[in-house]
Amino acid sequence: MFPNSWFRPFILPACVLLQNRPTVTSEQKQKSLTKGSHLESCIPLLTMAKASESKPGLTHAPFKNGRFENPWPNFQTPSVTHIFSLMRTKDLSKIPPKKDLDKALPIITPDFREFDTSPSSGVRVCWLGHASVLVQFDNITVLTDPIFSQYCSPVQFAGPKRYRDPPCTIEDLPVIDAVVISHNHYDHLDVNSVKDLNKKYGEGLYWVVPMGLATWMRDCGCKNVVELEWWDKWSIPGREEVKFVSTPSNHWCNRGLFDRNKVLWCSWAVIGPSHRFFFGGDTGYCTGFKEIGNEYGPFDLSAIPIGAYYPRWFMKSIHVNPEEAVQIHQDIRSKTSVGIHWGTFKMTSEHYLEPKEKLKEAATEQNLPPDSFITVNHGDIHILGRDTYTEMD
Ligand code: ZN
Ligand code: ZN
Repeated sequence: MFPNSWFRPFILPACVLLQNRPTVTSEQKQKSLTKGSHLESCIPLLTMAKASESKPGLTHAPFKNGRFENPWPNFQTPSVTHIFSLMRTKDLSKIPPKKDLDKALPIITPDFREFDTSPSSGVRVCWLGHASVLVQFDNITVLTDPIFSQYCSPVQFAGPKRYRDPPCTIEDLPVIDAVVISHNHYDHLDVNSVKDLNKKYGEGLYWVVPMGLATWMRDCGCKNVVELEWWDKWSIPGREEVKFVSTPSNHWCNRGLFDRNKVLWCSWAVIGPSHRFFFGGDTGYCTGFKEIGNEYGPFDLSAIPIGAYYPRWFMKSIHVNPEEAVQIHQDIRSKTSVGIHWGTFKMTSEHYLEPKEKLKEAATEQNLPPDSFITVNHGDIHILGRDTYTEMD
């Protein structure tokens, strides 16, 4: 998440205290995070997540004194000094009025009847803005980091606001089997969206979340929640042919002042019998992506963050830029990738179209095949990563 959210509680302490959001007691947190018992205590009726055997060469995030530790040497914990320096950074975003945005970043109204039948080849994908992506392949439909709110903030009257609306409402969405969550920052875990999705789908929807987040989800009313540590695998009961694998990312977690890294953060690999999808979530670069590529690549489709990276002196360890996104694409052995985490909320100070432009340059620089790492319009539905892929759907 962008750093503003880190210091927002300082600016809006009263709002944070007054906001209507699920609360987690320290007892619940302890219960959820007690190793070896968290799954049983949080998911009494669900298929248990299978702890991965600790294979040599696979990095894990250590859990010490109630907090996860970022294991990547290039990670730098944001400090108060950073925050004050950041506030003096020049804003180059230059987000134009709506009529110009409609041309530069058009919003397409998706026809979700296309999701009535899973594609026989490739992955059907619809970018819903920011890191929210709807994908369908191998008879499974998955939604990532859903946010439909106007603000990614503890409150809905202040904070980073959307400049591009969601292309649909939650009511419009087709049948979804599972939602994966990458971490608990406000732009990736939106309480209103979670509650509205839960209201619409109820127990028909599975929530696959990083370790430590199940209690929060259950406090939102979600019933089918499974929490996984890096490299753990899980399948929807009766759908064992598709595996959800929690995979590493280089990031951190917090929603308030005192909860830093009390829950884990991750990326996700969804492995079907014929196709593989990777969701990068929110991340700085790290060698973990080579590990993911070795273990689970190649991926037919990947959603990789490309935005919210400026200024680099601060963002480099928590958000990749387009060049590093291309490196991730190569590390995980992605056949086709779509850029996410840009073009929706005003989060950082790079020009609002720069992620898209720099991605093209970086892909050319690395001699990627044409259309192998692209951006798509909000709401536009494509089938990408087809086995005999010839042209854009
Ligand atoms: Zn984040
Ligand atoms: Zn983010």
